Amino acid sequence: MLCDIIVIGGGASGLTAAISAKMCRPEASVTVCEKLDRVGRKILSTGNGRCNLSNRSVNTENYHGSVNAPAVIRDEPSADEFFSGLGIMLVADDAGRVYPYSGSAATVLSALRLKMSTLGITEECGFAVSAVDGVKDGYRLTSADGRTLSARRLIVAAGGYAAPSSGTDGAVMRLFRSRGYRTAKICPAVAPMKAFPEEIKGLKGVRAKCRLSAFSGEKLLRTEAGEIQFTENTLSGICVFNMAYLFAENEGSLTLCADFAPDISAARLSGYLSDVRKQRSGSSLEDFLTGLFGKNLAVYLTKRALRRPLTESISTLSDEDISSAAALIKNCRFRAAGASPWQNAQSTLGGITASEITPELASRREKGIYFCGEILDTAGDCGGYNLQWAWSSGWRAGRNCALSLKG
Ligand SMILES: Cc1cc2nc3c(=O)[nH]c(=O)nc-3n(C[C@H](O)[C@H](O)[C@H](O)COP(=O)(O)OP(=O)(O)OC[C@H]3O[C@@H](n4cnc5c(N)ncnc54)[C@H](O)[C@@H]3O)c2cc1C
Repeated sequence: MLCDIIVIGGGASGLTAAISAKMCRPEASVTVCEKLDRVGRKILSTGNGRCNLSNRSVNTENYHGSVNAPAVIRDEPSADEFFSGLGIMLVADDAGRVYPYSGSAATVLSALRLKMSTLGITEECGFAVSAVDGVKDGYRLTSADGRTLSARRLIVAAGGYAAPSSGTDGAVMRLFRSRGYRTAKICPAVAPMKAFPEEIKGLKGVRAKCRLSAFSGEKLLRTEAGEIQFTENTLSGICVFNMAYLFAENEGSLTLCADFAPDISAARLSGYLSDVRKQRSGSSLEDFLTGLFGKNLAVYLTKRALRRPLTESISTLSDEDISSAAALIKNCRFRAAGASPWQNAQSTLGGITASEITPELASRREKGIYFCGEILDTAGDCGGYNLQWAWSSGWRAGRNCALSLKG
């Protein structure tokens, strides 16, 4: 049987696209075809189960990649409009991050599925699309286990490579690449970064407020305030997550530079450390910085700045030592050793490029195919930007796909 529209991928953008298409053309038959045994698994894990589904301020600098996500988001219904249509009340925190009032991602998925069921959208779960072939009047999809489904139009919403346990392994992106679609270089976005273990020895478990800047050589690429976190071999925290895409963009030449006292000038810091030299003259270097930082960070910075045994007395510090410690606190550099594995990433930068799609999110290459969500070459920062892109692009792709059906 030839269905009107098949959506490949039952994630945030695919479910939205199906709803948008069906609301635009209620008479059309719409099926969501999902590889896993249920739709929306990734939605459930977003925002630590709370689903940070949008952000009050969406700006160009929050998105990366060739597709102009903010332009689409601005012209489509806001998160408030979309979710009030699903009966979901929203609330924003002080940083502008928007969540469902329930504080539960499960309520978002339930509301989407309720709407789909009311509209008569079909879910075809356990169908992993492995081939797409052009047939008369449309396309035939073949699943990994040999089943087929056909439709006049396709909406491709199969996501990227991030978090493969939630169904996304990049297979559909590769499938379309093999059909001639151009894709931008793929790399993890919103992800931790690998560090050189010897460079962060002693910092495991430390979380510290800082102003973090990313450099390639001496070129400043990005800076933001936040909390950096350390494991034995990784750097994480939201400010690190937001810089992950820069590792691939700069061919692996990336240094993260933490200012651990961003609100204190170097001169004031040196003055303070000189006072500490007097006040704690009877103590060992182990306690030189414990008035400023937690023990592990204090010891790490002292060791790295002074490179001498911590059993020595604070009174032995020279003015030069004080300046070195102040300089390190203001400019502590960590070289990025690599991108994190896909299972630790929340998003994918790279994907089908802007040159392959029209402003309606239709394929320029093949009639009747539309794209939305993470499969396209855009990735947002941490803070609700990726889900907002999924809703907005899904809404646009669904509507335009439905409008392209005649009659
Ligand atoms: C742990 C985690 C937390 C996150 N938290 C947030 C957050 O709080 N806020 C935010 O904005 N963003 C967050 N994100 C990112 C956000 O979830 C994604 O960017 C967004 O879900 C992408 O939506 P999508 O519809 O494009 O793709 P996905 O949600 O990845 O959906 C794609 C769907 O396609 C299916 N699929 C894949 N291949 C096939 C195939 N061959 N055949 C059929 N179906 C297929 C997959 O199983 C999946 O269901 C988080 C991501 C993760 C991993």
